[in-house]
Amino acid sequence: MLHRLNAAGLGTIADKLDAGQRLSFADGVQLFECSDLWAVGFLANREREKRHAGRTYYNFNIRLEATNVCVASCLFCSFARLRPGDAGSYTMSLEQAWDKLRERAHQPLTEIHVVNGLHPDLPFDYYLEMLRGFKRIRPGIHLKCFTAVEIAFFADLYKMTDEQVLRELQAAGLDSLPGGGAEIFAERVRRKICHDKCGAGRYLAIHKLAHGLGMRTNVTMLYGHIETKEERVDHMIRARELQDDSGGFQAFIPLAFHPDNNQMRKLPAPSATDTLRVHAVSRLMLDNIPHVKAFWIATGVEVAQVSLWFGVDDLDGTVQEERIYHMAGARTPEAMSTTAIRKLIRAAGRDPIERDTLYNIVTGPESPDEAPALLQ
Ligand code: SF4
Repeated sequence: MLHRLNAAGLGTIADKLDAGQRLSFADGVQLFECSDLWAVGFLANREREKRHAGRTYYNFNIRLEATNVCVASCLFCSFARLRPGDAGSYTMSLEQAWDKLRERAHQPLTEIHVVNGLHPDLPFDYYLEMLRGFKRIRPGIHLKCFTAVEIAFFADLYKMTDEQVLRELQAAGLDSLPGGGAEIFAERVRRKICHDKCGAGRYLAIHKLAHGLGMRTNVTMLYGHIETKEERVDHMIRARELQDDSGGFQAFIPLAFHPDNNQMRKLPAPSATDTLRVHAVSRLMLDNIPHVKAFWIATGVEVAQVSLWFGVDDLDGTVQEERIYHMAGARTPEAMSTTAIRKLIRAAGRDPIERDTLYNIVTGPESPDEAPALLQ
């Protein structure tokens, strides 16, 4: 393998990783340019196995998008409708939102993941009461709700600071923030694809505030549209720098651009090889973020399986009723049972571990009908 790594020009990067040294911006760009994808994947897999051996995490969660009314106009978005009453728009009542949880009373869910459009007319109480209601219905459930973009929007709309918004939501039951809304941090790209929502600096500042309040969060990266390899690496390094500072990111989640039904439909979707490379380079660059997640809804199930050998150690969860990617043309199922997720992880040669949002183990690799093959 040493010969192959050297032939691919990755000998120095391999040495740095062996020595526990951090990779540079130039190293990241080189990993994107390297023609030997398998060599890049080999290095990423080594880093993955150092941290997690063969363990692959998933959780039993549901997704809820309570409204798709959104004042922003991100070019890649197929989900949003500009005004209430526009064709295809919807806004759930609180009872409808709570029913989504009540309907799952028989399921051992551990998390609700809520993201919404930026609705201009709903009162702040709508969101506070939604959280309180979820906790009344199921006190132990973890509420991972509202992207940093939503937090910034609430602060501007309700004339509060970002910190006040976070504190009030936390008091109402918010436990952590999802990573959505990061897109690509580079200004050049943001101006073109998402000019009218909160910028990279505020996104990162809100995550830092959340970390300071004791919340864990994730960070995403939307790839496969107009961004350059340099902008991908810059994005990863900005996330890495914040993690050095506040330390609250649990997972880095590359999100594949999907071109159907949006204003960027002329672009092709990212290829499977690009998807594998992005996840692998993420693992290699982000030495301080514990988990790299493949969101199987976006990557496709088969590519998600292969990604488990390209740096990925987490497959998100059962999801259930995902709308954002399916309105953009995703052909993946909208939900998967825990049995199906465990099987696909096993079929990829890895060991399934059900976790809660904070990565506490709910169900280990051993299950009555499964033969454990845990790597040591
Ligand atoms: S990506 Fe989010 S902020 Fe942008 S238009 Fe869609 S729902 Fe609105």
